[in-house]
Amino acid sequence: MRLYDESDVSSLSVRERSALTLPALAPRSDIVAMLDRLVAFDTTSRNSNLALIDMAAETLSRLGAEIRLTWNDSVTKANLFATLGPADRPGIVLSGHTDVVPVDGQAWSSDPFHLDNRDGLLYGRGTADMKGFLAAALAFAPDFAACPLAMPIHFALSYDEEIGCIGVRRLLDDLAGLEVRPRLCIVGEPTEMTVVSGHKGKKSVRCEVLGHECHSALNDQGVNAVEIAAEIVARLRAMQRRLRETGPFDSGYRPPYTTVHTGVIKGGTALNIVPGECSFEFEIRNLPRHDPDGLMAEIRYWAEELLPEMRARSSRAGIIFDENNSTAGLDMDANDPGVRLVQSLAGDTGTAFVSYTTEAGLFQHSGIPAVVCGPGNIAQAHKADEFVSLDQLARCESFLGRLLDYATNPEPGRF
Ligand SMILES: [Zn+2]
Repeated sequence: MRLYDESDVSSLSVRERSALTLPALAPRSDIVAMLDRLVAFDTTSRNSNLALIDMAAETLSRLGAEIRLTWNDSVTKANLFATLGPADRPGIVLSGHTDVVPVDGQAWSSDPFHLDNRDGLLYGRGTADMKGFLAAALAFAPDFAACPLAMPIHFALSYDEEIGCIGVRRLLDDLAGLEVRPRLCIVGEPTEMTVVSGHKGKKSVRCEVLGHECHSALNDQGVNAVEIAAEIVARLRAMQRRLRETGPFDSGYRPPYTTVHTGVIKGGTALNIVPGECSFEFEIRNLPRHDPDGLMAEIRYWAEELLPEMRARSSRAGIIFDENNSTAGLDMDANDPGVRLVQSLAGDTGTAFVSYTTEAGLFQHSGIPAVVCGPGNIAQAHKADEFVSLDQLARCESFLGRLLDYATNPEPGRF
């Protein structure tokens, strides 16, 4: 995920550039202490996140929070949903994923699972993406608990976001059963505390081509799975060209159209064997108002066209699509009261769109309006020496302080 090119400061808006020159701030020490604890849990997506979830659940339940947990099938990972304040009315969710991407093969200057403060930058895996936000939110839990809240503040901590927004779907299924649902979700992915009201959706698809293997000298008797796959991949490429040239377009996104990309292809065993199997994976990253199902229907139609010739040579020939993951885009109206509230909390008058996906799209899709706003820069995410600055955490602290004021004493008509 990236907000803008890493070294491309010229691509920043005037507002973003002026933010870079503001004097640096320092956050409360309990936010840094909480981040230190969170970073020490190696919650790489392949690992269990239960130790972190246990710590968060204990911290929150000690403050009187109501806790709901949902698990993965093997009960090695959990989502946590906690509520402080009056649960009988719609509240505001502070949401983030607990998992981080692997550090394998990356050259870190310090232990990635030990928070290291160097010149006002806090280094560690997940500091930007997105334990910095979780640390600030959890550090504020005692403040929320100590105030007479006029609306509940919820904490949503998910698992397996980095491998396709997997975990949060179970959390959202669980919330669907609630009588009173949250009115807004703030997803604290790193946006440098700017307000992101839209992002693209994503559909990941695996295609398996079953052909018929034989000696290549007798290729009139075989069905070449690699060549069939290549034909579909070439059509996907043509589809991308068409979308680039004819849209639909939304100039708020970069690139301003839906993208189609093939990332993996595997097939064949030897040059003198007609390959019997080939698989490839592609993805569609759609503008939030561009339904990817229409594109998928077109792709399936191409496969239908190829099948008769394949089946004439082998009854087992086939083309199977597995739409293994799909994450909805986020498309909040700039005038939505939730967007306006988050703008007022962040001290940001604008909104931005990003091309990466977050859990916010799934929250909105499930009927809970969502906005992305959190500390740190996406350019630091997923890399060696990932960091979040003290300044960014301080800005997040101010944001949460204003949320605390608002949740205690909401101004009529503000939201
Ligand atoms: Zn993230």
